[in-house]
Amino acid sequence: MTAPQSSPGTAPKKAKRPARPRHVPERTCVVCKTTKPKRELLRIVRTPQGRVELDAGGKKSGRGAYLCARHACWEVALKKHRLEHEFELTTLPEDDRAALEAFMATLPPDT
Ligand SMILES: [Zn+2]
Repeated sequence: MTAPQSSPGTAPKKAKRPARPRHVPERTCVVCKTTKPKRELLRIVRTPQGRVELDAGGKKSGRGAYLCARHACWEVALKKHRLEHEFELTTLPEDDRAALEAFMATLPPDT
């Protein structure tokens, strides 16, 4: 009986990169810079008409910016003029700001 030494080729290979079965489009929150699957982020769009609004379906045309569904990110985006910066605006239209603030109020508070 001869116990075979461990032969080359049987060592388990370390797979550093797990294969991605499906391509998941990712976007980055403009405030906290976290990259998440697109569907977990909320899209804000600047329409060709110059309005800035929530794009719930993610299908509106225009320049988009993404935010987490987190109160903290929205607060920074609205209060620190992050959206104006993203959209190269000096100010958000007043109505649009009010609508976005109203939406922010519906987000769950951060834990
Ligand atoms: Zn965020």
